[in-house]
Amino acid sequence: MSEPREPGEPVAPRDDLGALEGYHSPQLDVSVRLNTNESPYPPPPEFVDRWLAALSDTELNRYPDRSASELRVALGAHLGQPSERLFCANGSNEVLQTLLLAYGGHGRRALVFEPTYALHSHIARITGTEVVAGERQADFTISIEGARELVAEHDPVVVFACSPNNPTGTVEDADTIDALLTATKGLVVVDEAYGEFAPRRTLDRVRDDGRLVVVCTYSKVWSMAALRLGFAVAPPWVVERLEQVVLPYHLPLATQIAGRVALDFRAEMHDRVERLVRERERVAAALATVDGVTAFPSGANFVLFRVLGDARAVWKRLVARGVLVRDCSGWPRLAGCLRVTVGTPDENDAFLAALRESVTEVAA
Ligand code: PMP
Repeated sequence: MSEPREPGEPVAPRDDLGALEGYHSPQLDVSVRLNTNESPYPPPPEFVDRWLAALSDTELNRYPDRSASELRVALGAHLGQPSERLFCANGSNEVLQTLLLAYGGHGRRALVFEPTYALHSHIARITGTEVVAGERQADFTISIEGARELVAEHDPVVVFACSPNNPTGTVEDADTIDALLTATKGLVVVDEAYGEFAPRRTLDRVRDDGRLVVVCTYSKVWSMAALRLGFAVAPPWVVERLEQVVLPYHLPLATQIAGRVALDFRAEMHDRVERLVRERERVAAALATVDGVTAFPSGANFVLFRVLGDARAVWKRLVARGVLVRDCSGWPRLAGCLRVTVGTPDENDAFLAALRESVTEVAA
C-alpha cells in the first residue's frame, strides 16, 4: 500500500508500477526487419483506395459508432459468428487490457504459462491483477496436469493460453483448451494473434454459455498493424462487460471502416497466408541445415531457433549485416534463442545467408 500523501507533497505514481519494466521491441534502421511479426506485404492498393474513398464520405466532426456495429456484423458474417459475440478494439492488446480491466484487478489472479507473450502478464500487472506463472513443458506445450494443480491452488479469474504461442510458435491441442475450461471457473483466454497461420484454431469452440474467449488481430494477416484493430470472440455476457469498461468512442472511424473494407479482400489475404506458411516451412528446413542451429516447430509467421554459443553475438552480427531479428536469449527458458519473423522470399534469403555467416564467425 502507498503511504498517504501529505498535503503539498509531490505526487508519485503507483508503488507497484516501480517494479514493472516497459515493453520494448527495439527498432533499428536496417534493411531487413524481421523482429516484430508483422506482415511483410503492404495491404493491396485497391484496399487503400476503397478505404480512403469510404472515409472521405463520412462526417469527421461526429464521434464514431460506439459499438462498431457495421464492422461487427461484417466480421461476424466472415467468421460465421453472431455479432453479439464480437468486441473490437485498438489492436488485440487493447482487447487484452479490456478483459483484464473487467475481470482482473486487485485481489484477483491471472495464470500464464511461460515462456509466452510478455504483454499477458504485463497488462495484468498494470491492471492490478496478480500474475501466477506456470511453466511450459520441454516441447513448450501446456501441461494439463500442471495447469490443473495451479488452477486448484490459485483459483485464477483468467487463464491465458496463446496458440500459436509467441515466441515459441507452439500450437495447442483442442484437448488442452477443453481441459483448461474444465479445470477453471474463470475465463480461458486463447490469444490467436497468429491463428490464421496455424493448422488448427479454437475459434469454433466459443459458446454463449461457455467461458472461452478467443482474441484475434488484423495486425498480421490483414497487413494492418498500423491501423490498430483487434477483436475478441466471446460469449455475449463477456462482450457486455467489455463494452462497459472500455472508453466511449475508443475505436476510430478510420479503423472501423478499414476492418470492414479489408473483408472484401479475403482472397488476397488467404493467398498471403499460404505464401507465408510456405516460406515458414522453407526457412525452418533451411535452419535445420545450419550447423549448431535448432529450430522449434512453428504454426505462426515466425520461427524460434536456438544457436550454439553466444546468441547475443550472433544477433549483433546479423544486425551488422542489416538483418534485425528478436533476441529472446535473455528470457527465462530461452537461453540461446532468437526469433525470426517470416518475411518476403528475398528477406528470408538475406536472413539465412547472414545467419550462416554470423554463426560461423561466432563459432570461430
Ligand atoms: N498477442 C500476441 C500473441 C502478439 O504476439 C501480439 C503482437 N505482437 C499481440 C497480441 C498484439 O497485437 P496487436 O495489438 O497489434 O493486435
